[in-house]
Amino acid sequence: MDLLQKVTALAKRRGIIFPNSEIYGGIAGFYDYGPVGVEMKNNLKKYWWKNMVDRRENVVGIDGTIITHPKVWEASGHVENFGDKVVECKTCHKRINVDELKKNCPNCGNSEFTEARSYNLLFQTEVGVIEGEKQKAYLRGEACQTIYLDFKNVVDSTRQQIPFGIAQIGKAFRNEVTPGRLTFRSREFEQWDMQFFVHPDEMEKWFKYWMDERMDFYKGLYRKHENLRLEQHPKDKLAFYAKDAYDIEYKAPWGWAENEGVHWRGDYDLTQHSTFSGKDLSYMDPKSKERYIPWIVETSGGVDRTFLMLLFDAYEEEDLGDGKTRTVLKIHKDIAAYKAAVFPLVGNKEEIVGKAREVFNMLSEDIKVVWDSRGNIGKRYRYQDEIGTPYCITVDYETLENGSVTVRDRDSMKQRRVKIEDLKEILN
Ligand code: ATP
Repeated sequence: MDLLQKVTALAKRRGIIFPNSEIYGGIAGFYDYGPVGVEMKNNLKKYWWKNMVDRRENVVGIDGTIITHPKVWEASGHVENFGDKVVECKTCHKRINVDELKKNCPNCGNSEFTEARSYNLLFQTEVGVIEGEKQKAYLRGEACQTIYLDFKNVVDSTRQQIPFGIAQIGKAFRNEVTPGRLTFRSREFEQWDMQFFVHPDEMEKWFKYWMDERMDFYKGLYRKHENLRLEQHPKDKLAFYAKDAYDIEYKAPWGWAENEGVHWRGDYDLTQHSTFSGKDLSYMDPKSKERYIPWIVETSGGVDRTFLMLLFDAYEEEDLGDGKTRTVLKIHKDIAAYKAAVFPLVGNKEEIVGKAREVFNMLSEDIKVVWDSRGNIGKRYRYQDEIGTPYCITVDYETLENGSVTVRDRDSMKQRRVKIEDLKEILN
């Protein structure tokens, strides 16, 4: 089994990621997060928000809708050219994205393909229920468009002045022709975006700044920095309006894979929306009184993709000797679903279970903890290792005597005894 298969199996087995509509045979490109996965994903989004919004005085957040006025997607260029070019293998009929095409079909090895065809990736829907009054609309193909739409409202309603950024985490939808590799290429996914509005003279400086900031962010998240790199887009692959673009990539089991793009968007977006809406989206500098269309540095990443790469980054199978192994997710402690698990050593001794409940209740006031009293301690450790819980706390007979518990560390597997009253400090 390769790492993708192992991670897919673990994700299913431990309630991290489930195929959507599985009882109906599934639907390609759609996934649900299970009880463990939803906690991790929420932590991941919180981690991003803290880094990008909370600790910065010059970035504010919004939460925009999935459906917008359909003209948005004409202005953005998506209706006309948001497509994938795909060829089909003439032997086995597998469809392959031209960007990923090698000499031979990865499925059957043959090398004859149909001409490339373009597909538009926007999902269409209708707003309104009365025939004749229904309006064609699109599910947003990228989350960032709502940021441009709200730009003027944010300027008018906050104390922000350029340079400043608007951040958002939200769903995007793409009718991908070749979804696959678990959530890597899905049809419904989440993006974390930040659009930073600058004076054109300062574009270079801020572009560089955000590239560094975003690399630092991913370095803080991943363990294996050798699997992380920043790649400049070749000039012939740039979007037509972009002067420069970099991808932050992580080495997935199938090769380098994009996590996030840092894009030089210039004045393209606000100019387009000004033209299509007829509304002036220029900005007047309150000090210099200069009026101009702000330029934009964009950082646009995938929440689900980062989540998947984190699983690759964290997954380890360790040899414990005597033919024993353990699977462990050495995931960042802020992202783990639970900070700690609380166990009563035995499930049938009332005093011990009662004391463990006290510990659980005390900790759960401000730390995310999980309870487990099933099976033997060894099995419970294995389970918590597989979902990446950093600490396991066991209440045992000695706890009843002196108020101490054992704390076992996920990575070193070392145990130590600590006082219950010191637990919060240790876990934080
Ligand atoms: P790709 O070339 O892989 O299709 P992209 O360059 O079209 O990606 P962007 O439009 O720049 O992607 O979107 C920003 C981010 O959104 C990407 O870096 C990626 O993390 C995420 N993303 C894009 N498409 C998908 C998808 N189909 N499934 C999951 N995440 C996606």
